[in-house]
Amino acid sequence: MTTDVLKERHRRWEVRQRTGARKETDMLIQKDVVILSIESSCDETAAAVTVNGRQVLSNEISSQIDIHTLYGGVVPEIASRKHIERMNQVIREAMRTAGKTFCDLDAVAVTAGPGLVGALLTGISEAKAVAFASGLPLIGVHHIEGHISANYIADKTLEPPFACLVVSGGHTNLVRVKGYGEYELLGTTRDDAAGEAFDKVARAIGLGYPGGPKIDRAAKDGNPEAIRFPRGKVEGSEFDFSFSGIKSSVLNYLNTCDMKGEKVDVNDVAASFQEAVVDVLVDHTMAAARLCGLDRIALAGGVASNSALRGRMKAACERENIAFFCPPPVLCTDNAAMIGCAAYYEFLKGRESGLDLNAVPGLKLGESLYGTEAGA
Ligand code: ADP
Ligand code: MG
Repeated sequence: MTTDVLKERHRRWEVRQRTGARKETDMLIQKDVVILSIESSCDETAAAVTVNGRQVLSNEISSQIDIHTLYGGVVPEIASRKHIERMNQVIREAMRTAGKTFCDLDAVAVTAGPGLVGALLTGISEAKAVAFASGLPLIGVHHIEGHISANYIADKTLEPPFACLVVSGGHTNLVRVKGYGEYELLGTTRDDAAGEAFDKVARAIGLGYPGGPKIDRAAKDGNPEAIRFPRGKVEGSEFDFSFSGIKSSVLNYLNTCDMKGEKVDVNDVAASFQEAVVDVLVDHTMAAARLCGLDRIALAGGVASNSALRGRMKAACERENIAFFCPPPVLCTDNAAMIGCAAYYEFLKGRESGLDLNAVPGLKLGESLYGTEAGA
């Protein structure tokens, strides 16, 4: 980076620190907005370079799945350590693939929550270091907003408003996306997240970790009507979810078979369990879109790569003349391109985090990292 560029950036940084917000001129001189984004909220170390939010120049993901598989799930302490080991290489690779230097960047974005606190802190520390050394604005990003934003990358024509079902290892949210960065939570899970239920049931039937993709695969050779598992409903709350009942019901079924000495057909259990979960997810999402008068539905999060969910939601949307959006699997599970996309819309609003940005492990959808005032 040349000394002149660095000097000018640090001058602007000082102005921003004094005035508390980015000067309008800073934004107007931007033509294309190039953002380096970092994601480390769970067990993927990821970095990406995006242009104007929706164009992805690079999207590097280093997964730790092999290590955590040995323990049957994510071990937070190991996840943090691996992020530290891999972060610099992943960022270097993202910059190299994009053909960009730190000089070409307009901002550095990072997931600040929700997620595992130690894992989040590794990404945040790295982003602060790059932002400070390069004199660039730092933008903290809400991980779930990132998942929703993956849809903007996958389909350049998609614009709010739309209904979005966010289903991942840690979250199940039915959301009305009212505008860029404007969300209304319509429903959430009362107990397990959808992905968590997939992972726990997969472990119980001996498929191992990570359970979602393995159940998806096994279900293709099973009968979804072989066993009738309950469709979890939450009394008095039309759009909330509950998956612990389905999970217990699978465990009871396995115990009963064991006691009777009956053989368990793993593929049938996988297919029947998946059918019960997908039924509820599709029903709730369609009902929410109808109630809110929305003619677009999007999926997001790791479980959105589930083939049955994608197929059933698409068919339901076609029946009701609703446009259906779903990112490709690589943009459904954790990645940094989606974080860069969400960051772009924060950038346009003039938002910038301070160097005191902290991890917010329990950040909920609808809660902002920037207070209630736009640009605050
Ligand atoms: P989080 O952001 O909560 O860490 P991700 O968005 O990375 O989670 O998604 C991971 C979750 O997605 C895991 O629970 C995994 O089992 C689930 N998952 C991934 N692929 C599939 C699939 N094909 N079917 C069902 N679940 C899946
Ligand atoms: Mg995620």
